[in-house]
Amino acid sequence: MNDECRKRESEMLSWASIVPSFIIHHSYAMLIHTESISRTYRMGTGEIRALRSVSVDIEKGEYVAITGPSGAGKSTLMHILGCLERPSEGTYQLDGRDVSGMTDDELSSVRSRQIGFVFQPYNLVHQLTVLENVMLAPFFARDHSRGTKQRCLQMIEMVGLRERAVHRPAELSGGEVQRAAIARALANDPLLLLADEPTGNLDTETGDGIMQIFENLHNAGRTIIMVTHDPKIADRARRRIRLVDGSLTMNDER
Ligand code: ADP
Repeated sequence: MNDECRKRESEMLSWASIVPSFIIHHSYAMLIHTESISRTYRMGTGEIRALRSVSVDIEKGEYVAITGPSGAGKSTLMHILGCLERPSEGTYQLDGRDVSGMTDDELSSVRSRQIGFVFQPYNLVHQLTVLENVMLAPFFARDHSRGTKQRCLQMIEMVGLRERAVHRPAELSGGEVQRAAIARALANDPLLLLADEPTGNLDTETGDGIMQIFENLHNAGRTIIMVTHDPKIADRARRRIRLVDGSLTMNDER
């Protein structure tokens, strides 16, 4: 996405809550294609089958929720889609590239450049300001190009944190921390935004604000996949994928 597109996205995000989404252009093309992926963990002499032969296709611009009870394999699927883990069996293609056979270095490069994570373990660094935290994303992706700071500031503005850019996480509310995490996840203009229980520790009203940001990002054409055990949050997505005991049991679209 170049600066012009980014500017358009920023404008769209501010308008997205009042402009019907059908007016905004979506370019549909396959982003994710998994074929019979399984993940088995060895535990002593036994093994746990966390995912069992899951085949799923997700197009660019889709907004998908992965649901299911605790232990169903949601995080495992998310970790594989986010290139944090490889499947034990099956293939995974991201934007036409087979990632199941990539080396650790290749996976790490895909992760830092093409995937934005809003996960608890990737929370903000306490000693850094919001802007410095967001700028970690291009730093780790070895993007030292000019304009990086400007782009990060645009993302901070987009999530409504302009006045908080030079504040440290301890000076922010829970919702603001999550907004900063979203800005950081978007800083490298990723192909895919992955969120794990994005409203998990937030009260209903603050969680609603976060869901509105995802809604706006979807309306602006972003591809979003989130894991949630909360049916109300899952209903906000356009499509739901349900896992039970590591198997896909539902794959519906609204
Ligand atoms: P969910 O996110 O739906 O709660 P997970 O994907 O975390 O489910 O876990 C699915 C199953 O795999 C669970 O039985 C869990 O205990 C097991 N599991 C997950 N990660 C590991 C691991 N690193 N080592 C061993 N077992 C694991």
